[in-house]
Amino acid sequence: MWNPLSDLRERIQGQGGMVNAHAHFDRAYSVTHADFAASHSGVGGAAGGLVNTHLHEKWKLVDRFKESASEEVYFRHITTVLRDQKRQGVQACLSFIDCDPVAGERALQAAVRAKEMASKELHMRFLIACQTLKGVLDREPRELFERALPYVDVIGGLPGADRGREEEHLDVLLRAGRETGKRVHVHVDQLNSATEKETELLCRKVMEHGMENRVTAVHGISIAAHSKAYRKEVYKMCRDAGLSFVACPTAWIDARRDETLAPTHNAVTPYDEMLPEGIVVAIGSDNICDLYKPFADGDMFTELRVLLESTHVYDVEELLRTAVVNGRKVLGLA
Ligand SMILES: [Zn+2]
Repeated sequence: MWNPLSDLRERIQGQGGMVNAHAHFDRAYSVTHADFAASHSGVGGAAGGLVNTHLHEKWKLVDRFKESASEEVYFRHITTVLRDQKRQGVQACLSFIDCDPVAGERALQAAVRAKEMASKELHMRFLIACQTLKGVLDREPRELFERALPYVDVIGGLPGADRGREEEHLDVLLRAGRETGKRVHVHVDQLNSATEKETELLCRKVMEHGMENRVTAVHGISIAAHSKAYRKEVYKMCRDAGLSFVACPTAWIDARRDETLAPTHNAVTPYDEMLPEGIVVAIGSDNICDLYKPFADGDMFTELRVLLESTHVYDVEELLRTAVVNGRKVLGLA
């Protein structure tokens, strides 16, 4: 009897295993019982505890863990995930690591040590990108961003952290990419809303800075909430900018019900439309067992399965490419 999923799994292992192209290992396993407490009167005051607050609140709420975590604690969290990724047969992964005034340099230094451990003990590639949760425009976070540059493999960013000044945030990242020769990965269009046009902005900025083929967008969920004509235009811009994507399927499939009318779609990177456009899409786990995604376990096959189901892509060759080759490409390992 033929089982397509088992077949796909075997073929991926035959190519050395999956590539987890986007994650936040430094905060993995940081969720607590208190985060679930319904009585918690935390920021946002959401029913059902802090785990139910809005993304933008969570960007601040994770400060509690980050403030208290020593380099040793960070090292333990990162290496716990790395061992689990290895157990699954993942061949390489890239994690964003908080480099901001709250985490200081502790998470980054722990990640640098974990990278060596992964190489020596697990025979696995572990790449580091900086996460810029406090932006890159104010003096203190900017200094930490700049100090992190020599240690990261990929320059990471989150323009939403510099709300209202997203263009300047992208200028800083892309300039750093040009100066260091490193690839750039940027969180964009996360909220599944047609009010967001961050992918379009990113494409324009990539071309303005001459960074074509060296930049990857993480998520791009909101693209699917726009009209077909706009989506087509964005895909063309992505091709012109050589912009690749990382889909993190379970990360946004939980997008909240909303009465805004939009084209019917699942809250996932529009993988089905990007493939025929020739856009490179890789796959990542994103958050694991933290305040953002308390039940996420980092299982890359769950991610692949959710991606193929939510976009109805049954092309095994494409799925294989997404799981392995495209991951290596966006990590700069190809
Ligand atoms: Zn992320």
